[in-house]
Amino acid sequence: GDSAFEQVARAADIPIYAVMAAFREDPSPMKLNLGFGVYRTEEGKPLLLNAVRQAEQLLVNDLSADKEYLPITGLPEFNKLSAKLIFGADSPAIKENRVSTVQCLSGSGSLRIGADFLAKHYYQHTVYLSQPTYGNHPNFFAAAGLAMKTYHYYDPKTNGLDFQGMLQDLGAAASGAIVLLQASGHNPTGIDPTAQQWEQIRQLMRLKRLLPFFDCAYQGFVMNMDADALPVRMFVADGGECLVAQSYSKTMGLYGERVGALSVVCKTTDVASRVESQLKLLIRPMYSNPPIHGASIVTAILKDRYIHGVYILSALQDGREMYSRWVTELKQLTDRIATLRQQLHLALLDRGTPGDWSHITRQVGMFSLTGLNAEQVAFLIKEYHIYMSPDGRINMAGLSSKAVPYLADAIHAAVTLV
Ligand code: PLP
Repeated sequence: GDSAFEQVARAADIPIYAVMAAFREDPSPMKLNLGFGVYRTEEGKPLLLNAVRQAEQLLVNDLSADKEYLPITGLPEFNKLSAKLIFGADSPAIKENRVSTVQCLSGSGSLRIGADFLAKHYYQHTVYLSQPTYGNHPNFFAAAGLAMKTYHYYDPKTNGLDFQGMLQDLGAAASGAIVLLQASGHNPTGIDPTAQQWEQIRQLMRLKRLLPFFDCAYQGFVMNMDADALPVRMFVADGGECLVAQSYSKTMGLYGERVGALSVVCKTTDVASRVESQLKLLIRPMYSNPPIHGASIVTAILKDRYIHGVYILSALQDGREMYSRWVTELKQLTDRIATLRQQLHLALLDRGTPGDWSHITRQVGMFSLTGLNAEQVAFLIKEYHIYMSPDGRINMAGLSSKAVPYLADAIHAAVTLV
C-alpha cells in the first residue's frame, strides 16, 4: 500500500560519510583511510587509553556507584572539573562564580545547545565561521536558525593563516555578531593564530563587541593543556563574556561516549544562573539529561588532579596517577603525529614532488590541509585507494609510518599527473 512517507525526498549523502562508506566497500589490501578525524595506531587500530581503562576499572569496582539519572545539566563535578581544565584552576571567572557549565553530548551537542541558546536569548543572529571550517559547524548554526557569514582564515598561496583577511572581515562585522573560533588544532587547516595574533583578535573583537564562541575539541593535542587553552583564557582574563564548547572525543579517545560541556562565561553570578536556568529549558525537551558513563570516566581522571579545587601534582599523590597517565599518553599521540608529519614531508622531498610541502610540518593538531584539489583527491581514491575528504584534508592520526611511502608515491603521482 501507499506509505505515509511517500512524499519523503531522498537527502544527499553527507560527504565525509559517503567517503567512509566507499572505503569500507573497497576490497583493496592497500586501502588507506585518512577521512574521519579519529586516532589510529601504527597497526591501524583504534586506541583505548590506559588512563581511561584505569578509570573504568575504578568505576566498575565502586560498589556505591549507580546508574541513576543525572541532573538536566549533567554531573556537577564533571562540569566543575571541565571548566577548570579549560579556564585554568585559578580562573577569576570560576572563583567569582560567573561561569555556567552544562554537560552536553560531546562537542557537537555543546555547539548545538550553545547555538540554540544564542538564537533564543541573544540579540544578534549572525555567526561568523572561519573559511574553511569543520564541515559540521554550519549545520549546528543553521539548525538553530542563525545566519552565517565567513571570515578569511586559510591562505592557499602560503598554506598559512590569512591574518589580514581575518582582521578585515571581523572589523567589518556588525557590532555584537557571534564569532566561532577554534582554540587549538584548527580543523581542517591545522593552522592556529600565534599568541600575538590572538591578542590582536581579542582587542578587535572586544572593541567591536563581537561575541566569541570557542570550539575546543583538541585541548592538549597541539602543545599542552594550558598552552592550548591560552586563547580562551585571554578572552576570559579581560572580564568579557564568551561561550565555550568542550569535547573529550579526541583528547581522551572517548568518541562514542559523547562527553563534552558547554560553558557560558558571564559578567555576574546572577546572569550566569539565569543563563543556566534557560539552558535547562533547552535541554529538557531535547534529551532530558545527558549520559552518565563517559562523564564519570572524565571526572575520575580529572579529579585525580584537582582535589577540593587545589592543583595537585598527581605523581606526588599516592595512587592518584590517572591524570598524569592521561597527559603522558596524549603527549605520545601528538608526538607520533608530529613524527608522521616529518616522515611525509621528507618522503615528498625525496621524490622531488613539485611544490612546497613544508606546511605538512608547520600545521598542527590532527589534520593537514594538503592543498590537493578535488580532482587530485578523486585520483588518489580511484588509483591508490587512499580516502580523504574532498577538500584535500587528511587525518594525520590515521596514517602509519609504514604507509608513508605509499601515500607519498600517490601524492607525487596526483600532483604530476592530474
Ligand atoms: N569541533 C571540531 C573542531 C571537531 O573537529 C569535531 C570533531 O571532529 C567536533 C567539534 C565534534 O566532535 P564531538 O561531537 O565528537 O565532540
